Amino acid sequence: MKVAKFGGTSVASAEQLRKVANIIQADKKRRIVVVSAPGKRFNNDIKTTDLLIALGERCLNGDQITKEFDTIVSRYAEIATGLDLSAHIIDEISASLTDTVNSDKTNKNRFMDRIKASGEDNNAKLFAAYLNSIGVAAAYVNPKEAGIVVTDDPGNAQALPETYDNLKKLKNRNEILVIPGFFGYSPEGNLVTFSRGGSDITGAIVAAGIEAELYENFTDVDSVFCANPNIVDNPKEIKELTYKEMRELSYAGFSVFHDEALIPAFRAGIPVCIKNTNNPAAPGTFIVAERDYSSIPVAGIASDAGFCSIYVSKYLMNREIGFGRRLLQILEDEGISYEHMPSGIDDLSVILRENQLSDEKENRVLERIKTELNVDTISIRHNQAVIMVVGEGMTSFVGTSAKATAAFARASVNIEMINQGSSEVSMMFAVAAEDAARAVRALYEEFFMNIGQVQVQEAIEIK
Ligand code: ASP
Repeated sequence: MKVAKFGGTSVASAEQLRKVANIIQADKKRRIVVVSAPGKRFNNDIKTTDLLIALGERCLNGDQITKEFDTIVSRYAEIATGLDLSAHIIDEISASLTDTVNSDKTNKNRFMDRIKASGEDNNAKLFAAYLNSIGVAAAYVNPKEAGIVVTDDPGNAQALPETYDNLKKLKNRNEILVIPGFFGYSPEGNLVTFSRGGSDITGAIVAAGIEAELYENFTDVDSVFCANPNIVDNPKEIKELTYKEMRELSYAGFSVFHDEALIPAFRAGIPVCIKNTNNPAAPGTFIVAERDYSSIPVAGIASDAGFCSIYVSKYLMNREIGFGRRLLQILEDEGISYEHMPSGIDDLSVILRENQLSDEKENRVLERIKTELNVDTISIRHNQAVIMVVGEGMTSFVGTSAKATAAFARASVNIEMINQGSSEVSMMFAVAAEDAARAVRALYEEFFMNIGQVQVQEAIEIK
């Protein structure tokens, strides 16, 4: 069995849903379909989930909602009409959204989760109705019926272990099952959503639960690219990536697949294929446990802005037991998570996502580090970008970092920090945000267009 998940742009209009139906019918193994809410139909369009968030916020403020409500229902009505479905399905969607809008608002986060989830829920009902209308036996399956049990953390749910056993019963169903993505139910029965983009997570959980042979994730690009196409012109397509490589790339800005969706697929050893609804014949990108690294040590280059780094130095820091722990304790006390921590003997830097710091919090953190750890110097650098050169093959090749640093030099980009773990899945470079695009282009040329001077060779076995 295969699980096929279709993202927002794949289910944004009647025309797109017809393509989805054709894709399902083209392979008998595609028995479970997970759908997103209708996404963007054109560049400046608004995703249904964003329309729903605006609607929910107006409800909570006690504002008039007629216009927002009608806009949402008319998106589904337009799709239903384009698919020649009867008006009955729209009455059903409108009634269900009315119930959600009128539901209990004492807990705002729970209310917002119910509103957001209605986007995928109504789309799944609509698509199941369409499949039946064209003679394909299909059933809408609510995540509660499917057994998707999640933590009670609104907007950030995690699947609980019992989910995987619960899902096994779906294997015995004969129809095509259409499951709305993006949410599950807590053990107490509350609807809870995953983080944004979370329909990918539903697909992965379902694929793991039913032990699918493949999890197909349909989107609007032919494959994952080696670099961001907004930075590099026509970057090469990636045929195969490992789970670890995909995780590193999505960490630093590759948004084609939700990073949390990798965990269930990875644990269950289910290959993932990223495919294009608009060009299903293209082979797509496979995400697997192992790939052949022999010709391509580096899989891709990612970059993401919005970081800052705190630099601290203290004479004899390396001999001061507990220094690092106490520094991280201050961050923990302030509810801040850190991303990287490159260090020297007497100094270290902590790289953070900038959006975690308000001015007030920043001053407090710096002051606490200065006084509680009695450091010699402390400073903070804003507007940093992180560039990741990702490839599990780097372990068996010599010269990859030489190639990378040569590219930075050619692009006249100053590397502010370098970090590479012993697993050698990636090399991280911190640079000023305004230099990031230039550096990515130079790295792409170096690794994928053989313009660089440095040769990479297979590693000589280390005895
Ligand atoms: N519709 C949700 C969002 O926009 C979830 C998804 O599409 O995966 O975040």
